[in-house]
Amino acid sequence: MIELSHLTKVYGDIPVVNDVDMTIATGTITVIVGTSGSGKSTLLRMVNRLIEPTEGRVFIEGRDVSHLPAHELRRSIGYAIQNHGLFPHWTVARNIATVPLLLGWDREKVRARVAELMELFQLDHDQFADRYPHELSGGQQQRVGVARAMAARPALLLMDEPFGALDPIIRAKAQADLKAIQRRTGTTILLVTHDMAEAIHLGDRIAVMDGGLLKQYAPAADILARPADAFVDDLIGVVDRPFHYLTLGTVGAAVEPGEADGAPLNADASLYEGLGALLWSGRKAAPVVDAAGRDVGRVSLDSIAERAARPT
Ligand code: ADP
Ligand code: MG
Repeated sequence: MIELSHLTKVYGDIPVVNDVDMTIATGTITVIVGTSGSGKSTLLRMVNRLIEPTEGRVFIEGRDVSHLPAHELRRSIGYAIQNHGLFPHWTVARNIATVPLLLGWDREKVRARVAELMELFQLDHDQFADRYPHELSGGQQQRVGVARAMAARPALLLMDEPFGALDPIIRAKAQADLKAIQRRTGTTILLVTHDMAEAIHLGDRIAVMDGGLLKQYAPAADILARPADAFVDDLIGVVDRPFHYLTLGTVGAAVEPGEADGAPLNADASLYEGLGALLWSGRKAAPVVDAAGRDVGRVSLDSIAERAARPT
């Protein structure tokens, strides 16, 4: 568990992070979302002491981080940023190996870990291990950046707009991959973004910040149903709200008994994808199959629409 207690950073006489209290459960993804200048990066960087708080404390598993040597703390916490921060004169393999080597892992263990991470992040070892960052695409650099941040199996991974520089297609894939990798590894992730859709997609809980204040901290469904104030409402977007809901649920949750014509939808597709498929194929319903390809019933425009409405 990570606890932020009365965390405050004042520059001049402006509190850019203002008395933030937050508890982050181990093994979950927490997303901090807010407009530019709301204090997200400052908050994140106080967790690994790249910035020292003016007031308040950070506890990781009960230990006050201000009592640990800062360099030791930062080796135990992964940190990935928008432009990857890769060392330009080091190869991909050497970049990923940075923290394990600092920690004094033996060569063989480092080599094995680099190979394992490159596989996890779908970077072919023979092709990429000896390349330099400028010989990679933006998406590949981004994956190397996250692989490097995870190399020493940090219990906590801090990510500051990690997908900000990616085009929409690569970005969606990177988000899906991160979520899958997090579910496999159980890494606790604290991620900053200005994109509410990204927050809803990735966050087990979402922290909304505005002007240094934590406005709301709750699971996505709660934030959509009960935005704390007009600012949170605006950030969600009135038009987008029902569609955000549909990204949270799966087709499987809207299955009803019965049959329908045409290509089946997968039960684990999102309701948003299901709605798109129905609209595009001009159908009012489609059959649904599970992961093994078995028929499990059908999904209809009505059953999807019910799940896009404000919960009562
Ligand atoms: P975000 O990541 O949400 O865009 P930041 O945490 O980077 O916001 O910054 C929050 C506010 O603090 C901004 O108004 C920014 O200008 C200000 N700020 C950040 N760093 C400093 C600094 N070193 N000195 C003075 N003001 C700063
Ligand atoms: Mg920032």
